[in-house]
Parts: sequence; structure tokens; C-alpha cells
Amino acid sequence: MWLLLSLNLAGKAAALLLGWSAPAVALALWFGPDLLLAYHVFAPGAQGLVRMHRRFATPRREVWLTLDDGPDPEDTPQILALLAAHDARATFFLIGEKAAAHPGLVRAIIAAGQEVAHHTQTHPAANFWCASPGRVARELDAALAALRGAGVTPTRFRPPVGIKNLWLAAALRARGLTAVAWSARGLEHWSGGAEAVATRALRGLTPGAILLLHEGPRVPTAIRVHAIRRVLERLREQNYRCVVPGPEQLVN
Ligand SMILES: [Zn+2]
Repeated sequence: MWLLLSLNLAGKAAALLLGWSAPAVALALWFGPDLLLAYHVFAPGAQGLVRMHRRFATPRREVWLTLDDGPDPEDTPQILALLAAHDARATFFLIGEKAAAHPGLVRAIIAAGQEVAHHTQTHPAANFWCASPGRVARELDAALAALRGAGVTPTRFRPPVGIKNLWLAAALRARGLTAVAWSARGLEHWSGGAEAVATRALRGLTPGAILLLHEGPRVPTAIRVHAIRRVLERLREQNYRCVVPGPEQLVN
């Protein structure tokens, strides 16, 4: 983070020094570091501000299925049944305020042997990039309290739509949270039905992949739960198991 900020300030200072003598160069020096910083804030796989794991190490045909934006009273029970039927494990990245509204669903996820993880308190996708240190702390601590109230202390975190900010890395470290991105996602709002979503989630499938799918009302009705079912079926056809990797496997 400090390298990115120093580059940014140095660029601004150099641009001011050059001033009118070389306007094109000054413009590039002024805005170039901004673009670099923006890339590390907004690109889900960028590592400059927060270490985001995108794969895990495994010698076996294993993937990590991660499900965001729950819990949801309609979807979560169906997904738990699907996972049980496929002998699959998954991690549910839960939104704190939804977890607080449905603590029974959080307990059901834990009772089913699945992992509960942290996906902020309110899912502030539009403005998380510019959240103040206080706002970041509130998003983290409120969701931690909601999840602890339901009986679990999460160790994994995913920011809303993968967007980071300047304060996130230190805030996660202080709370013992590891950030997890993904290697492939279903992109449920793109074109096509459940089959197309499954195809996107399984594109370039190799051992150690981290797959991202969603639950809840923001997913188009025709795709809800069905896309997850198709992913599980297609993984089984290809002899892949869904596992939750240990912290020592998160090296990528
Ligand atoms: Zn989300």
C-alpha cells in the first residue's frame, strides 16, 4: 500500500515541477499512478493493497466452492441439501445483517459441516472503495458480532465484488481474517441460464480452483440454486471433489 501511495505522491510532485514545460508528460505523471492505484482497488485479483487468494494448493482433483451473499431463507436450505447429496463441502460468505436476521440458517450451515465466512455487514459494493477506516472497522466488526452470535468466528473474508480499499489489509490482519478472491465465477447476471452460469464457473477448471457463485434474491430466479446444482453435477462427472482447504493450502 505505501509503495502505491508513495508512487502516487511522487507522480503528483513531478507533474507540478514539470508544469507547463511538458504538459503531456505532466498529465501522465499526475494520472498514471491513479490508474495503478485504481487497478489495485477494483480488480478482484490485484494484490497490491490486500493479499487475495485466488487458488489453493492440492495434488488432487479438488476445487473450493464459495457461495456469496447469503444466508437466504429460500436458497440456503436447498443448497445445504444439494451439498449433502453430493458429499460436497463449501464456504458460505455471509452478509452480516442477513446472518443477524436469520441466525438459525447460520447454525444450519455450521451443523451441516459447511464453513461460514465473512462478507461484510451491509455489502457496500458501491462505496467500499472509499470507505473510511471507521466504516471499514464497522463493516467488519458488526458482521463478526452477528456471526459470533450465531456461534461461529470466521477466519476468511471476501470484500463485496472483490473491491478493496487502503485500510482493509490492516483491518483484516487485526481481526485474524484472510482475504479470498476466486479463480472463476458464474456471473449470474450475464446472458444465458443455469447451464451458461455453470460453464463460466467451470471454465479452465484445474485442481485448486476457487469457484464463486451466489445465492439469494439478487440472482435471477431461473438460475437460483439451479446453477449451483449444475456445477455440482458437472464436477462429479469430471471426478472433482468440493473441499474447504486449510490455511496452509492458501499459498496462491
Ligand atoms: Zn457479494
